[in-house]
Amino acid sequence: MTQVPRFDIPADRLPALLCAMPKAELHMHIEGSLEPELIFALAQRNGVAIPYASVDELRQAYAFTNLQSFLDIYYAGASVLLKEQDFYDMAWAYLERAAADNVVRTEMFFDPQTHTARGVDVKVVIDGLHRACVDAEATLGVSAALILCFLRHLSEEDAFETLEQALPHRDKFIGVGLDSSEVGHPPEKFAKVFGRCRELGLHLVAHAGEEGPPAYVWSALDVLKVERVDHGVQSARDPALMARLAQDRIPLTVCPLSNLKLCVFPDLKAHNLGTLLDAGLVATVNSDDPAYFGGYMNENFLQTFAATGLTAQHAWQLAANSFEGSFIDDAAKAGYVDRLNATFARFSA
Ligand SMILES: [Zn+2]
Repeated sequence: MTQVPRFDIPADRLPALLCAMPKAELHMHIEGSLEPELIFALAQRNGVAIPYASVDELRQAYAFTNLQSFLDIYYAGASVLLKEQDFYDMAWAYLERAAADNVVRTEMFFDPQTHTARGVDVKVVIDGLHRACVDAEATLGVSAALILCFLRHLSEEDAFETLEQALPHRDKFIGVGLDSSEVGHPPEKFAKVFGRCRELGLHLVAHAGEEGPPAYVWSALDVLKVERVDHGVQSARDPALMARLAQDRIPLTVCPLSNLKLCVFPDLKAHNLGTLLDAGLVATVNSDDPAYFGGYMNENFLQTFAATGLTAQHAWQLAANSFEGSFIDDAAKAGYVDRLNATFARFSA
């Protein structure tokens, strides 16, 4: 996008700047923001039995080691969501935390199949989440939108059925994505349903290159024709892919603490976020499933910068990239970048 302006930020002010700077979150699963306390409260409200005796016991069960063992507990947690108000309460809890982290724009993923498979109507899901988005804009000053994700471990036929169920509520979501277990479920499995969504004018994103190979990122781009790649960190293994992502300015929605928790990198110091930025990619920082992966947006920024030694210039670039990569109009993007520059000017020496 624009050239990085020069700012002289004292090193000791960097953590406060990371927290204060306005930013967009482009990769978070709303069901992954469900904190143990809320799971327990909703289980009680709805009379749902869960296989954990206490909040502490549930929190301890979060010691998963890979994507699949995480997904197992993630689906168990989602089982307490039954009514429109439950979905509202879940989204509202996240949106309040986002506002506290100076997230000014968020594009939230939701997984309708996780709920419709339990007999919850997709209308209940979408209405509750959407009402929280509307209220967030009005009272928190956070612009929020929804992206419907298809679960890739299920069939494309199932995805088509989900799309049909959701289309009467088309005005309440802006795009579609692809999530859940990546390896063994390449993007091309969903070529037809993404083609249909493209005809419908929906924005397209997909998880690719988290645990899966660079080939999955190529097919997300060339077969699904996505506008953003979620994760995409494995792209660094393929120089031609890196060049393509940089040239076409395809945003990567990177999730450092998620990568750490799921052992995509051995430690945060080894994370390749700096490599992606220095190669000119539109990389961003995001929280993925913040309740499960140890932190919301600012925690992701703080821990990653502390571990990798990224600088204030990187911070500006990441925030600017988040606005460039968001599905808002150019005037809104420019307005956010002005606010970003004002924050940096305030922190300059
Ligand atoms: Zn994700």
